[in-house]
Amino acid sequence: MSNEIPYKIYLEESEIPTSWYNLRSDMKNKPAPLLNPGTGQPLTLEELSPIFCEELCKQELDNDTKFIPIPDEIISFYKMYRPAPLVRAYFLEKALGTPAKIYYKFEGNNTSGSHKLNSAIAQAYYAKKQGLKGVTTETGAGQWGTALSMACVYFGLDCKVYMVKISYEQKPFRREVMRVYGADVTPSPSDTTNIGRKILEEFPGTTGSLGCAISEAVEVATQNEGYRYVLGSVLNQVLLHQSIIGLEAKAAMDKYDIKPDIIIGCAGGGSNLGGLIAPFMGEKLRGEADYDIVAVEPASCPSFTRGKFAYDFCDTGMICPLAKMYTLGSSFIPSSNHAGGLRFHGMSSTLSQLYHDGYMRAVSAKQTDVFEAAELFARSEGTLPAPESAHAIKAAIDEALKCKETGEEKTILFGLTGTGYFDLKGYQQFNDGNMTDYIPTDEELEKGFASLPQVPEA
Ligand SMILES: *Cc1c(COP(=O)(O)O)cnc(C)c1O
Repeated sequence: MSNEIPYKIYLEESEIPTSWYNLRSDMKNKPAPLLNPGTGQPLTLEELSPIFCEELCKQELDNDTKFIPIPDEIISFYKMYRPAPLVRAYFLEKALGTPAKIYYKFEGNNTSGSHKLNSAIAQAYYAKKQGLKGVTTETGAGQWGTALSMACVYFGLDCKVYMVKISYEQKPFRREVMRVYGADVTPSPSDTTNIGRKILEEFPGTTGSLGCAISEAVEVATQNEGYRYVLGSVLNQVLLHQSIIGLEAKAAMDKYDIKPDIIIGCAGGGSNLGGLIAPFMGEKLRGEADYDIVAVEPASCPSFTRGKFAYDFCDTGMICPLAKMYTLGSSFIPSSNHAGGLRFHGMSSTLSQLYHDGYMRAVSAKQTDVFEAAELFARSEGTLPAPESAHAIKAAIDEALKCKETGEEKTILFGLTGTGYFDLKGYQQFNDGNMTDYIPTDEELEKGFASLPQVPEA
């Protein structure tokens, strides 16, 4: 290769960041506080502590501390699979014939196959430190559940996972990986909880949703001594832990004086995107640099591009705190032909505020286009991407093709959040030519909006 930028830019192990960066500290308009659904008042530490580990509650509520030191035990674990490489997508650039320079930060280099391990290990660590017996959670496609199982077994914690039923059925192998790591996996909705039984009664035959699995996991955590609930995305604390992605990416780019013009991430609940953009967005917020920051979401679950910025429940059972976010309503369930992940109805309140204030933009992509991008990426760069990650690939390709037209040599950075080995049902549909797109109508979205709670505007 003629260029002097290597194909992979690795940091040294000693260059793994020693603190997470709290993006909220640089926001003038802080994300709206979580509200108690009963009183409509901001949640206090005391109210949050029965649900989440104490240290994580503190991180959740901390809008001010800029850098939070990463405990040594977590750094030791990070060393198993970090630093993660920053890759120059020379082969994709060539396939596209673009003058753009494309980089991706690859987070799939661990058994869970995604960035989720970055937060799972942190959350398991704080649960252990608090002397808890175990944690409960929900998982959609299964990456979060897998990551959490790996983290829990490392610290000797019990791990109970409620897995969205359709994924449990479509992705049996992911379930087995979780069991290898000692987790207890239940398809949701299930008859093991009050809320699960209620949902089954109301919607017989439902294939489940993340919101519903969250309700079940929270119920089990709050009704069992020594258990807390943990969440793999959306929350401020998760974005905080994921800032390691952006900090490493920026450190690697700084080594070669590379400055991205465009930063792209797929957006489900917003954690990888929030993590990837954190240090760059920090510079933007402080007026030190400017970046075009892009969230990519599925056209079949378009929270940013077609959702409402409002207080909503994070779960279908309406027992979780209310978060102000871009949302499709907690009763929204993506069409069952949707194969690409990123199916949560809401979006991180931090990213929602930044989007609302014009610091970033959002685009949506149809799943057939997403899988087409995934195929091109696999064939040119070699790595089989997770369908979620392929949303970012799709947008990066679009931007690179724009550069081809204009002749601009923009530098594009995107997050390759994971690998797609367990998503082969989706790939099979695509390969067989059976994949279809379903874009919800305005009327269908209205049904979800009708489930938004009435909250007095502060
Ligand atoms: C969970 C997941 C996502 C989406 O979650 P965010 O919280 O929006 O980052 C994206 N990619 C992969 C591979 C995932 O597992």
